[in-house]
Amino acid sequence: MEKALLMMDYLNVTQIGDGSFSHKGDLAIDIAGKDSNIDYLKAPFTGIVRRIYSNVNAVWLESVDKVVYADGTIDYMTVMTLHNDDVSNLKVGNIIKQGEIYYKEGSTGYVTGNHIHLAVGKGKFKGNGWYENNYGNWCINNQIEVSKALFIPSNTKIINSGGLNWIREDEFIEENTYIEYKVVKGDRIFM
Ligand SMILES: [Zn+2]
Repeated sequence: MEKALLMMDYLNVTQIGDGSFSHKGDLAIDIAGKDSNIDYLKAPFTGIVRRIYSNVNAVWLESVDKVVYADGTIDYMTVMTLHNDDVSNLKVGNIIKQGEIYYKEGSTGYVTGNHIHLAVGKGKFKGNGWYENNYGNWCINNQIEVSKALFIPSNTKIINSGGLNWIREDEFIEENTYIEYKVVKGDRIFM
């Protein structure tokens, strides 16, 4: 089973979820790469493009199978990304393999500076993918904290964690890997 990964060479969190700026009530984060140039985001899991909304070049990618979340949850996952300047490489129904470059930083939408707005929703794509909250911000359906969903690959350099409690891919110990032992006659059990 794939672990869901936040795959950029450099992680630079420029705004965290529920921030006071444009993320009020919204658990999405803004991420940039090494510098003000355009860096790329690789697909966090093998997924299918479910929707593209061209005003802000929003793309919803839904995992084709259940994936492992950074907090240990196992479920389908949908991610929504905004601000790429050109998404003509993507079509609804495309299958993107985990690790494939599919999205990049940009400044399309009401933003200044190249970045990616990244939101994670638990489960499969639902409805039209998002809803407007009380502050006028558009949130992905079933939104959850990004750092509880996506692992950071071991080779990603963290420039700014945003103060979030990221879990490295290699720190995760898979459950259900213990060896089952059948008690036989003569064993002594200490409780
Ligand atoms: Zn944002």
